[in-house]
Amino acid sequence: TKLKKGLSKTRQGVTDKIDSILRSYGKIDDDLFDELEEVLITADVGVNTTMEIIDNLKNQVKEQKIKESNDIRELLKEEIEGTLKKVEDSKTDRKLNIEPSPAIILVVGVNGAGKTTTIGKMAWNLKQEGKKVLIAAGDTFRAAAIEQLEEWANRADVDLVAHKEGADPAAVIYDGIQAAKARKSDVLICDTAGRLHNKKNLMNELNKIFRVVEREYPEASKEVLLVVDATTGQNAILQAKVFKEACDITGVVLTKLDGTAKGGVVIALQSELNVPVKLIGVGEGIDDLQPFDTKSFIEALIG
Ligand code: GDP
Repeated sequence: TKLKKGLSKTRQGVTDKIDSILRSYGKIDDDLFDELEEVLITADVGVNTTMEIIDNLKNQVKEQKIKESNDIRELLKEEIEGTLKKVEDSKTDRKLNIEPSPAIILVVGVNGAGKTTTIGKMAWNLKQEGKKVLIAAGDTFRAAAIEQLEEWANRADVDLVAHKEGADPAAVIYDGIQAAKARKSDVLICDTAGRLHNKKNLMNELNKIFRVVEREYPEASKEVLLVVDATTGQNAILQAKVFKEACDITGVVLTKLDGTAKGGVVIALQSELNVPVKLIGVGEGIDDLQPFDTKSFIEALIG
């Protein structure tokens, strides 16, 4: 499947290593746990989360009196699945909060993370589902960003509301909302600026946009998606923390999972931030954005 292909680097970097460690040991000892720990940390699962997984694994091995390293594999899979599921239990589900219509999706994240691409893919996906989609080009800082978004809107065959470079992002979102109302759009997807040089600026800019949304579109279902680049590993977690402080994120999109062996960042994001990963990017094509689902992710990774 596409997901399996997209995760192949992580699979090679994590699962294959784990399997060869488990095969080479036979008898279980502390060194084995140390090696497993190292693999998870290298895959950017995060130190705390890795410790938790390994501790639980040790306890299970003791409790179930497991002696052979090969018998650990299934336990490890269950532990990782359990970690990913914790968010599912504490939060609602991983579906986008776009029902009932109309809905607005605010897309935040730093430049280069894959915001434009994700918006294009998402517009295309939603259109395939029969929804009427409109995009607002709220990242007005660079002319190129507006042009790229226009290209993606064309590709997905949806309308775009844009102003000139340097325009007030909140004004673009305002116009987007009026257009969405007039055209009876089901979903309005809004790009936002992605400069993280200064947290206060970012917060001010995002807050201004959020206020416009509250005032002009209170009836809309609201989703705030943070886009982060999986290839940046632990940095993605740091970014997510900053954005989580700056605004109320309702979901995460993890892009470029196909380009990294550090897919463990999915696990770290969820356990350390407690925000659900809702979508994952596994390629540059328009159909390379997938819903994140714990079961299929685990299957593609360790199944
Ligand atoms: P933005 O600055 O956040 O809007 O980032 P862009 O959407 O322009 O994406 C930056 C680069 O990442 C582009 O070259 C995209 O093709 C690439 N990209 C985005 N998502 C993915 C993905 O899921 N997989 C891969 N391989 N590349 C991606």
